[in-house]
Amino acid sequence: MSELGGVFVGILITDLLRYLLGAGLVFLVLWKWLGKRLAHRRIAPDYPPRQQLRREFLYSMSTVLIFASNGLLVYTLAVGGHITIYREISDFGWLYTVASLFILIVLHDAYFYWTHRALHSPVLFQSVHSVHHRSRNPSPWAAYAFHPLEAAIHAVFLPLALLLLPAHPVVLFLFVIHMVLRNALGHSGFEIYPRDAVRHWPWAWLTSTTHHQLHHERFEANFGLFFVWWDRWLGTEYLDYCDVFDTVTKRQKVAP
Ligand SMILES: [Zn+2]
Ligand SMILES: [Zn+2]
Repeated sequence: MSELGGVFVGILITDLLRYLLGAGLVFLVLWKWLGKRLAHRRIAPDYPPRQQLRREFLYSMSTVLIFASNGLLVYTLAVGGHITIYREISDFGWLYTVASLFILIVLHDAYFYWTHRALHSPVLFQSVHSVHHRSRNPSPWAAYAFHPLEAAIHAVFLPLALLLLPAHPVVLFLFVIHMVLRNALGHSGFEIYPRDAVRHWPWAWLTSTTHHQLHHERFEANFGLFFVWWDRWLGTEYLDYCDVFDTVTKRQKVAP
């Protein structure tokens, strides 16, 4: 196998494991282990059919392939000296290294918000984004369930950002782990934030599962990925989002 082929296989295995472990962890913990105990926190009480989970998983496999190709692009850009992935923290310092993780997450959130809004334009929705929206009541396996073109749109954020920002491998690792876990949680159908969280910092800044579940149920608002800022600034958050959140989080726990 050529050197690039070997690198691709390595990246593919890493991307596959990240999806399987990230979505699988949220699925096992919330759907299997705590499902009954957290039944009162289930946003929509019913569960999707098994064939929906299979479809979400199969589309996610095609996304893993596209993410791995994107990983190879990042590798090639780094080898060619077009982006900087540094191994010694002292090259850029601790302050920059820690800050770069937060900058990447905030930039990714902005990129996602605007590309997501574009994906809701009639033509792109019909031909591309409707694949993700086939799950009206998603499962954690929907974390990567995208049309291949949408997967590529999401993927290229990282090489684009790395053209501007040098990054340490640990920062890149934490960036993608945070991404897959928040994504799987947002599609889990369980609201796990504390009661009143939508009114208190830092929770109030973060998108909750209820936030994204409403996007899947109704389609026309709540476009944010990690933070609610863009939806609030642009007036694209459902006006009853906090009320729905309250209704779910104030339900009484069902006796076993
Ligand atoms: Zn979604
Ligand atoms: Zn959407």
